[in-house]
Amino acid sequence: MTTLAAPPAPQGVPSTSAALDTRAARVDAAVRTSAVAALWLSLLVVTYWWVAGGGVQDLAGWETGLLSSGRLVGLVGSDLLLAQVLLMARLPWLERAFGQDRLARLHRVVGFVSFDLVLAHVGLIVWGYAAGDLLATPATAWDLTVDYPGMLLALAGLVCLVMVVVTSVRAARSRLRHESWHLLHLYAYLGVGLALPHQLWTGQELLASTAATVYWWSAWAAAAGAVLVWRVALPLWRSWRLDLRVTSVVAEGDAAVSVYLTGRLDRLRVEAGQFLLWRFLTGPGWSRAHPYSLSAAPDGRSLRLTVKALGDGSAAVASLRPGTRVLVEGPFGRLTARARTRRGVLLVGSGVGITPLRALAEGLDQAPGDVVVLHRYAREPLLGAELAVLARERGLRLVGLPGPRRAPGSWLGDGVPPVDDTTALLRLVPDVAERDVFVCGPDGWSDSVLASLCAAGAHPDHVHLETFRW
Ligand SMILES: Cc1cc2nc3c(=O)[nH]c(=O)nc-3n(C[C@H](O)[C@H](O)[C@H](O)COP(=O)(O)OP(=O)(O)OC[C@H]3O[C@@H](n4cnc5c(N)ncnc54)[C@H](O)[C@@H]3O)c2cc1C
Repeated sequence: MTTLAAPPAPQGVPSTSAALDTRAARVDAAVRTSAVAALWLSLLVVTYWWVAGGGVQDLAGWETGLLSSGRLVGLVGSDLLLAQVLLMARLPWLERAFGQDRLARLHRVVGFVSFDLVLAHVGLIVWGYAAGDLLATPATAWDLTVDYPGMLLALAGLVCLVMVVVTSVRAARSRLRHESWHLLHLYAYLGVGLALPHQLWTGQELLASTAATVYWWSAWAAAAGAVLVWRVALPLWRSWRLDLRVTSVVAEGDAAVSVYLTGRLDRLRVEAGQFLLWRFLTGPGWSRAHPYSLSAAPDGRSLRLTVKALGDGSAAVASLRPGTRVLVEGPFGRLTARARTRRGVLLVGSGVGITPLRALAEGLDQAPGDVVVLHRYAREPLLGAELAVLARERGLRLVGLPGPRRAPGSWLGDGVPPVDDTTALLRLVPDVAERDVFVCGPDGWSDSVLASLCAAGAHPDHVHLETFRW
C-alpha cells in the first residue's frame, strides 16, 4: 500500500544555482496577455466600423435591422475564424506562451463560436434580403447564391465548415480514426479561403474605409502566411537541416519501446519535457505525423522518445530499422523549465504520460526535495528504474501510485488508503500550493488531478498540463 506520509527530503547533489531565472516565464505571461488583448481589440475595431457605417441606426427598422445584425455577426465571426487559424498556425510565440494543449482547447471554443456566428450571419442576411418574410427566404437564398459575386464560393466554404464542425463534435469524432478526422479538419482552411471573395466583393464594412480594407487584407494575408511558413515551409526546412535518423529501438516493457535518434542536433533548440510531431519515412506511414515527447533530456548528441503501442501507428514504431530517416515538426509544449517560477516542483504523470516528466525531472535544476514525482501506473512503472536512479542521484522524491484506479473519477491507484483524493494529495505533498505542478496523462484522469490540485490550493497559473489527446 502507498504510504501517505510525506517522507523527509532525500539526500542528493546540491542545486547548481540558488535563484531561479523567471524571465522567460514573465515574457510568456506578457505574450498571453497581449494575445488576449489583441483579440479583444480586433473585435472592438470591427465593431467600431459597423457602428461608423450606421449599423446601430439600421437596427431601428425590421428589415434593415436584420441586415445590420447579420453584418455585425458576420464581421465578428470572420475575425474569430481568422484568429483560430492563427491559433493553430504553430506560431512560436503563442506555442511557448500557451502550449499546444491550451491552444487546442482555445481553438475548439473559438472554432465553435465563430461557426455559430457564421451560421447566424447567413440566416440573418438572407432573412433581411427577403424583407423579413421567413417564407420567402429559400427563394432569396437561391437568388443571392446565383446572382451575387462570390456567393457560390462562400456556399462551398460553408459546406466545408459544416463538415469540419460536425466531425469535431465529440460523439462523431470518437467514431473516426484520428487520421480521417485530421484530413477532414484540413477542409477548414478551404472553407475559410472560399469565404474570402464574397467579403471582398460585397462586404460593405470591408470596403467602408481604407483602414478597414487594409485591416482585412492584412489579417487574411497574415493568417495564410503564418500557415504556409510555420506549418509547411519551416518543418520541411528544419527536417532537411537536421537530417534525423533512427539509431536504435529498445524494448522498455509494458508494450513500450524507446527510439534513439541522431542527426545535426546542434541545429535543434529543444527542451526537456517538449514533444515533436514525428514522421518515420518507412513507407505508407510517412504521411501521418504522430506527437511523441522526448523521454530523456536532450544532450546535443541524441534524442530519445518512448512510445507505447496503442494503435497501428504507435505499434509500428517497434519495427523501425536503424538508419530510418525521420521528419519532424516542432518542438512544442510547455512542460518545461521555461514555465517554472518556483523552486518546488511537483510532477504528476500517468502511464505513458510519464515520458515528458521523466525528461523534465532529469533536466531540472534541483536540490534534494525540490522535485516530487507522483507516478501513476496500472501494472509496470514505465521508465521506473530510471526514475529510481534520478531519485538516488538527484534527490527527487518518487512516489509510485500503482494498481487499477480505485474508484470512478479518482486519479489514484487502489494501493492508496481510503481518504478522498484531495486529502491524499495533501498528505503526499503538503506544500503542493507552493509548487509549480506539471501534469501529463490521459484526458479524464488529468481532469481529476486538476480538480484535486485546485481543491488543495494550487493556483491555475502554476499548473501546467499536457494531455496525450487533442
Ligand atoms: C502532445 C502529445 C504527446 C504525446 N507523447 C507521447 C509519448 O511520448 N509516448 C507515447 O507513447 N504516446 C504519446 N502520445 C500519444 C500518441 O501520439 C498516440 O498514442 C499515437 O499517435 C497513436 O497513434 P496510433 O496510430 O498508434 O493509434 P490510433 O489507433 O490511430 O489512435 C489511438 C489514440 O491516439 C490518438 N491519436 C492518434 N494519432 C494521433 C495524432 N497524430 N495526434 C494526437 N493524437 C493521436 C487517437 O485520437 C486515439 O485516441 C502523445 C500525444 C500527444 C497529443
